[in-house]
Amino acid sequence: MCLTRKVAVLGATGAVGQRFIQLLQGHPWFKVEVIAASERSSGKKYKDACNWVLESELPKEIADMNVVNSDVESVEKAGDVDLVFSSLPGELAGPVEAEFASLYPVFSKASAHRMDKDVPLLIPEVNPDHAGLVPIQQRNRGWKGFITTDPNCSTIQLVITLKPLIAFGLKQVVVSTMQALSGAGYPGVPSLDIIDNVVPFISKEEEKMECEAMKLLGSFNGRIVQNADFLLSASCNRVNVKDGHLESVFVKLDGAPKIDDIIEAFSQFEGEPQKLNLPSAPKRPIVVRTESNRPQPRFDRDTGRGMSVTVGRIREDPIMTFKYMCLGHNTVRGGAGAAILSAEFMVAKGLA
Ligand code: NAP
Repeated sequence: MCLTRKVAVLGATGAVGQRFIQLLQGHPWFKVEVIAASERSSGKKYKDACNWVLESELPKEIADMNVVNSDVESVEKAGDVDLVFSSLPGELAGPVEAEFASLYPVFSKASAHRMDKDVPLLIPEVNPDHAGLVPIQQRNRGWKGFITTDPNCSTIQLVITLKPLIAFGLKQVVVSTMQALSGAGYPGVPSLDIIDNVVPFISKEEEKMECEAMKLLGSFNGRIVQNADFLLSASCNRVNVKDGHLESVFVKLDGAPKIDDIIEAFSQFEGEPQKLNLPSAPKRPIVVRTESNRPQPRFDRDTGRGMSVTVGRIREDPIMTFKYMCLGHNTVRGGAGAAILSAEFMVAKGLA
């Protein structure tokens, strides 16, 4: 089976778009053929259109490529592509991604289509069977291509850690987040709002966490996804950290497993990407740290090349059953890395 694909990146100049460019450099299957952004960037070389803020060098082969508008006509004029990654702003992504999906597989980071009934909200380790919505979507909409979406950056790392807890009977989850600045895009939060400060509000973030988790952990019956039926309450905060969301999670279970059983469930967890040995799959989706002061964003966000979620401080709780901290890289596992892993999964399964 041929696994190589030429790809377009929409929203390529933004915080997540830059991660796409970085992570796709030297990718064994995917080659960046077209880069697209807004009219502001269109016609400029990538190195002039974007303010590259990542530590690694801007890839040479991309620096001089021309940025085009994020519409089908402009992208097709710029090159032949097989699939599309989208990191467009949510409000714009709806119609633009639909236009591309009528022709191409679209892997979207935006929220616009996440809750559409016939669109998979996919984490390949958690709910690979939800990919079964794709043929239903194509039938419903008469599309040659399709859209799959990834969850919000704060939801994805939480749900990866909740999946192995389902076996213990998940009843209630309370989560409080400490979310990094890059989660707000570039240039993001004004410095005078966040220096020496914590902002206890991120627009629509709590609602996204509370409803996306139910779809992700819901069951697909061959026609629709039936939502999971546990309760989740989220409280979201922006903190003065560059990358890496830290979350404090309190869980009530049906059963009363020992802490060692929970550690074992987290440590042993793996899914289809690991079995298929996909290029972006971390060896361990969840890495457990036993030090009393981990995980921390600065030390743990790059675990598993940014694709592992680090869990620590797993302990009993006097009100709920137990509590823990989890940390994920928001623009890698929560951003471009997640979409690339979903695309690898769909390609490996012969679906894209
Ligand atoms: P960002 O830094 O603001 O980047 C937005 C991108 O969209 C830029 O490339 C921008 O191009 C382009 N764009 C803006 N207006 C446009 C228009 N009218 N037409 C075409 N392109 C336009 O945002 P981001 O943080 O990368 O987020 C992108 C998407 O990913 C959002 O939907 C966000 O919710 C989602 N997401 C973000 C994260 C994260 O951690 N940041 C994680 C998960 C999901 P110009 O440079 O030309 O303006």
